[in-house]
Amino acid sequence: MKRVAILGATGSIGVQALEVCAASPELQVVALATGRDRDGLAAAAAAHGVARTCVAADDGPDAVVRLVRECGADVVLNGIVGAAGLDASLAALESGADLALANKESLVAGGPLVLAALQRSGRRLLPVDSEHSALMQCLAGESPDALVSVVLTASGGPFRGRTAAELEHVTARDALAHPTWSMGAKISVDSATLMNKGLEVIEAHFLFGLPYDRIEVVVHPQSIVHGLARLRDGALIAHLGHPDMRVPISYALTYPERAATPARQLDLTQLGTLSFEPPDTATFRCLALARAAGEVGGTAPCILNAANEEAVAAFLAGRVRFLDIAALVTDALDAVPVAVVDDIEVVRAADAAARTAVGVRIGAVA
Ligand code: NDP
Ligand code: MG
Repeated sequence: MKRVAILGATGSIGVQALEVCAASPELQVVALATGRDRDGLAAAAAAHGVARTCVAADDGPDAVVRLVRECGADVVLNGIVGAAGLDASLAALESGADLALANKESLVAGGPLVLAALQRSGRRLLPVDSEHSALMQCLAGESPDALVSVVLTASGGPFRGRTAAELEHVTARDALAHPTWSMGAKISVDSATLMNKGLEVIEAHFLFGLPYDRIEVVVHPQSIVHGLARLRDGALIAHLGHPDMRVPISYALTYPERAATPARQLDLTQLGTLSFEPPDTATFRCLALARAAGEVGGTAPCILNAANEEAVAAFLAGRVRFLDIAALVTDALDAVPVAVVDDIEVVRAADAAARTAVGVRIGAVA
């Protein structure tokens, strides 16, 4: 029996994680945390018989970290959205739990800190992001010497094939209509801008210890192939499945076992065509911005991420336009100096400076 804590329990990932746990006698949920949705949390706690809970907005900013430290989980699933999840990721590893990580922003904002905590803890970092989970499975048993590169697939989002002119007046509602995945609002907008794939390139850099020129991105609109490992003998190993987050969630929570899940099996004869194309990085500038920030290193990915969070929130609130997101991120990267990430305070300062820079710019454009 594994004891599981679920952070972000009322979100898209959290709800699916609860489903996975309910379907498995081996997984016992011992703690739940959420941002502000007190009623949703209470309902989930009652439905799943969970005694320990916290609501960040009510119980204070440190409440989630305290919960993680005190709940005695074997594995902490971090499904919080945004860099707000970083402290909980660090606390999970420091408390001696495995970290099942959906919150990619933890690695983008504080990658070196998470890796250091991982090394100190001797525990596992298990990716929940579908592409990275797929890659972990493609790489199982392969020697690092045999690996040429990893390939992340991207659906291309709801605006695939559009020109910049056609994107000028798209609305939040258009951006939230994702063609293949059903997800929270922030990651849905990130998928529409391709920032999500950019964050995932940085995530892959930290998870797999690869330089950026060995992390490829290919657009695959059907979202059936989730990731591929390119090996030096010419083999390309792919991971396929219906787009269903319960599969990578289950893999992370039950690793190294594999449990049955409620997910549908893939019928190859019913699939039709699988297609692949290069991403349009001239129109969807966020992917190139993220890759460049990753290559700069230090706090550059943290600045990119914080600026993106603010820009996406402003877009969802109708205060800026879709194409402003990339512009605001670019301006923040220009405005905030990059520092070496050797301490959490450095990350907090860079995060805050980027948010301030975006706030100032939005005051000017709105
Ligand atoms: P949602 O917006 O659906 O859910 C976010 C969850 O985080 C909510 O439960 C929210 O609580 C909680 N939350 C927000 N702030 C805090 C905080 N400060 N402390 C504690 N909890 C907080 O997001 P998703 O589930 O879509 O995404 C979660 C993470 O997983 C993101 O990092 C995303 O990139 C990643 N991910 C998501 C995928 C998906 O399919 N959805 C796929 C791959 C990765 P409340 O409801 O109370 O606000
Ligand atoms: Mg993903």
